[in-house]
Amino acid sequence: MPAPNSPKTRLPPRKRITSAKARSAAEIHEIFSRFRQARPEPKGELDYVNAFTLLVAVVLSAQATDAGVNKATKRLFSLADTPQKMLALGEEQVRELIRTIGLYRTKAKNVIALCEKLIAEFGGEVPTSREALESLPGVGRKTANVVLNIAFGEITHAVDTHVFRVSNRLRIAPGKNVLQVELGLEKAVPPEFGRHAHHWLILHGRYTCKALRPLCETCVVADLCDSPDKRVA
Ligand code: SF4
Repeated sequence: MPAPNSPKTRLPPRKRITSAKARSAAEIHEIFSRFRQARPEPKGELDYVNAFTLLVAVVLSAQATDAGVNKATKRLFSLADTPQKMLALGEEQVRELIRTIGLYRTKAKNVIALCEKLIAEFGGEVPTSREALESLPGVGRKTANVVLNIAFGEITHAVDTHVFRVSNRLRIAPGKNVLQVELGLEKAVPPEFGRHAHHWLILHGRYTCKALRPLCETCVVADLCDSPDKRVA
């Protein structure tokens, strides 16, 4: 019997899977220049009053719309804008206040556990490192990226469904999964656009480059787009 990996047992080489080619640096610069021209100061659409409430809002926004989260957090944050106040409110009341948001039971549990950890290990402050943020209950890589970017001004690229779609359609950072796209954006986005790139991509995806019927007639980068999903010549 031939030994494993001997020439006789070796499998034929797998067909190489190629992904869409990324654009040139000049084209990417042009795309972000136009985004900047259209929205010089892009902002996220989640309401918050400080780093802590931003963190909670982002945790609550998983699989929920920003508008839906804002509706629930208006009252929640008026009662509790610090981990101490949130703990005083208690899980049951947090759960009641956010019950219009999907997965509210798990999210209420996570928010309370997150507050306990913030107080026990971080002096009640939102930590500024990715590692510490990702150690918090309910906080994954995307949430950490949003908080690092918005609250602490770091150049990070949180990849949600909109960023993923637009990055692929425009070939700014083609990728088959969110991590590939995030790492592609890190390389592709020129530093001068780094701080706001995440918001430009989200807003473009949410309002123009929609999943099902992109509004290509009003798209500011239509002439640069060669996506098969494009709906104008
Ligand atoms: S032309 Fe259409 S598909 Fe291409 S980026 Fe613009 S909205 Fe999206």
